[in-house]
Amino acid sequence: MIMKRRGFLAFSGVAGMGMAFRKAFGKMPDDEKKQLQGMTKPKITYEKIHLELYHPWTITRGTANYKENVLVYYTKDGVTGVGEAGHMTAAGQNADRTIRELQPLIHLYRDTEPFLFYDLPEKVREIVPELSPAKAALDIALMDWIGKKLDIPVYQFLGINPVSEVKTSFSIGRDKPEVMKQKVKEAAPYKILKVKITGRGDKEAIRAIRSMTDKPIRVDVNEGWTDKEKAIREIEWLVAQGVEFVEQPMPVDMLEETRWLKERSPIPIVADEAVNTSKDVLRIKDAYDGINIKLMKSGGLIEAYRMTLLARLFNLDIMLGCMIETTVAIAAAVQLQALARWVDLDGNLLIKNDPYTGLTLKNGHWVMSGKPGIGVERRSNK
Ligand code: MG
Repeated sequence: MIMKRRGFLAFSGVAGMGMAFRKAFGKMPDDEKKQLQGMTKPKITYEKIHLELYHPWTITRGTANYKENVLVYYTKDGVTGVGEAGHMTAAGQNADRTIRELQPLIHLYRDTEPFLFYDLPEKVREIVPELSPAKAALDIALMDWIGKKLDIPVYQFLGINPVSEVKTSFSIGRDKPEVMKQKVKEAAPYKILKVKITGRGDKEAIRAIRSMTDKPIRVDVNEGWTDKEKAIREIEWLVAQGVEFVEQPMPVDMLEETRWLKERSPIPIVADEAVNTSKDVLRIKDAYDGINIKLMKSGGLIEAYRMTLLARLFNLDIMLGCMIETTVAIAAAVQLQALARWVDLDGNLLIKNDPYTGLTLKNGHWVMSGKPGIGVERRSNK
């Protein structure tokens, strides 16, 4: 309890920082204020991009060889920040819908002083209440702009250590055992493997990976288990195979059963579908050991950062995840990586024609460029 109280005070302190900034801003002489604000409203544009994939991606009605994401550009005072929307196709998201959802949000961002971003997530939620990667795209573009305007990386602005040796996992797509073995071979540069549990041929799939490597494996059940007794037996088998943790084993609404499972599981149970924003953290905190934070679910870096504060408060471990995203959205998430116990940021590694650079994989973990903002640059030929 004492730990929790102390955590709460720390959280209030950070929340107060936004207030302090607003107060200080209010007292600034007008010319300094104008310098910070600039004289003009931002120009906000967007671009649909076509991403070629190394491996076909399984979607509801078959497979796709490409993905369409949306890049957003926030320009003011001669400085441009970039953000990105990646889509969860299974949830009905796509580039055209994102572009529609961007329209009213662009108006909000045009009318908001960029350095007064603290209240933006709530205002954005009033306009687009549902899950939308459009929110993340604008938020990332604004945070990139702020970093560039201040000439510091976003991690520095947030007070986060840039150095982290937490290795990213790499997803091995489900296929016939022989194909999966080949994929494990191709995944040689990555130190941790992640695989989806589908309810069909799962043990064969895990055995196929194990026959090739002794690397740690992580599994994502995507809400697939509905019987808790059976689930704990599955977990015990997975533990014997060297599986590190289980992501979203049971449906989101089976919170009590998930808590039962968590109390008995020898490895951590991590929430994904069950947690999108801070509000969800409060609801699910006793049923899981950790939470998978994704910028496309949270609506960007501001809310993701708030979620890390809450996770610490409630002793939840932090995982960082992604969709298929270019270096833009991945580099935004990597800003937070020193706060995470587990990193699952491999979306850009699945893309053949990533238009941006700014991240390097070193011995399995991400190294940032150290450049201002999220530290990315457009490739000259894209
Ligand atoms: Mg997941």
